[in-house]
Amino acid sequence: MTTMSASAVVIGTETSRDSERANEVVAADPVLEIAGISTFYGPVQALDNISLRVPEGHLVALVGANGAGKSTLLRTISGLESPRSGSIRYCGEDITQRPPVRRVQAGIAQVPEGRQVFGPLSVEDNLMLGAYTRSRREPLGADLESVYTMFPILKEKRKLPAGTLSGGQQQMLVIGRALMAKPRLLLLDEPSMGLAPLLVEEIFATINQLREDGITVFLVEQNASLALGAADYGYVLETGHVVMEGHGQALLNDENVQSAYLGI
Ligand code: ATP
Repeated sequence: MTTMSASAVVIGTETSRDSERANEVVAADPVLEIAGISTFYGPVQALDNISLRVPEGHLVALVGANGAGKSTLLRTISGLESPRSGSIRYCGEDITQRPPVRRVQAGIAQVPEGRQVFGPLSVEDNLMLGAYTRSRREPLGADLESVYTMFPILKEKRKLPAGTLSGGQQQMLVIGRALMAKPRLLLLDEPSMGLAPLLVEEIFATINQLREDGITVFLVEQNASLALGAADYGYVLETGHVVMEGHGQALLNDENVQSAYLGI
């Protein structure tokens, strides 16, 4: 089934569990709701009237080619860029004018592109740094253990300098570090970027695990096939516009997505 919304083509399936999940996503309360966002760099318009929602406990993916505006959208959500128009609501509150630090304190954690670990510090110290916005009196042991349960390799290497980890392990570390902040919303920027195919698979196994654990994730990726395969719901961004949206699997099955993003 293909229908038109105000801004984008909505792709759905009539039959399967996919459409049920898509309906669940549409019905669930949003942690993040973006309405009519336009962002400029001087005279250059990077985002044009973007609207999307990320419901509690779901994984939503935004896919698009180089230069489509993915990073700009994440920077707008985290407050590093100010939109010229539109609004951003987080847990029901309008945060469009809030400074970035207050967004972090409110529970929005961003895992930036490029696996930025503190190389000379141990793996465990890197993880502990992720909890810096939390109260000093809060015990962190249980959270550390839950990160280690998710990523056993990090436990094994907890005393080693983070700089000695492989690219895939460093990506796990930055995700683990973000989870130490106990975020209500995790923003992932191109986690597969620059990783060998085997490590990309490993990272997506991790992302699937986050989804199974009910962590609310907004994932931005060029790897449309893996991102949409993991997502409950997806949006396709082209030159600053959302051109399609729908359940991840339904988008993957769409001919236009296949020819533009999957090389099929
Ligand atoms: P990539 O996957 O390459 O990171 P992207 O989808 O994240 O691409 P953006 O980096 O958000 O895309 O860029 C969106 C548009 O805004 C592009 O046309 C880009 O050239 C432009 N742009 C990005 N940053 C700036 C900047 N600092 N000044 C001017 N234009 C910019």
